[in-house]
Amino acid sequence: MERTLVFLKPDSIQRRLAGRIIAQFEDKGLNIIAMKLMRVSPDLARRHYAEHIKKDWYQELETFITGGPIVAMILEGPEAIRVVREMVGATNGLTAVPGSIRGQFSSSRQMNLVHASDGPDSALREIGIFFDTEEIHSYEPTIRPWLRAPTEE
Ligand code: ADP
Ligand code: MG
Repeated sequence: MERTLVFLKPDSIQRRLAGRIIAQFEDKGLNIIAMKLMRVSPDLARRHYAEHIKKDWYQELETFITGGPIVAMILEGPEAIRVVREMVGATNGLTAVPGSIRGQFSSSRQMNLVHASDGPDSALREIGIFFDTEEIHSYEPTIRPWLRAPTEE
């Protein structure tokens, strides 16, 4: 089982897409084990996007990501980090495959609706940035017998 940090960016909330995007993760069988509506401060943005601070588009990204509330969540499931990245799609909504979330709903390389951790190290780091341990609630879904065979993870 893996855990990945996902947040719906301010454009998702403003465009009333939060429910539809969350539903896709639920439909896939992923477990939501933490979730909250919150505002990203400039300090939090700099910590989360530390690898991008030197980019010439960073300030624009910070203004966007701090410009309205987000919904942060932790999703749990087998190979969840890769599975969720593939569901989210390529960074630029214009080139993301049509079946992906960005491919369905975004026409922008900045306003691309969703963040998802890109590997095990970033998932661990980002979960620690956004959630305290007491905010995480792992559970066995009652439909588990109908999601995967007993021999699968
Ligand atoms: P991803 O979110 O797919 O991992 P990156 O880590 O490359 O993408 O970039 C982080 C976020 O910064 C993107 O999701 C997007 O919102 C924004 N971004 C990326 N590239 C650009 C760009 N060239 N101009 C403006 N914003 C960008
Ligand atoms: Mg990235």
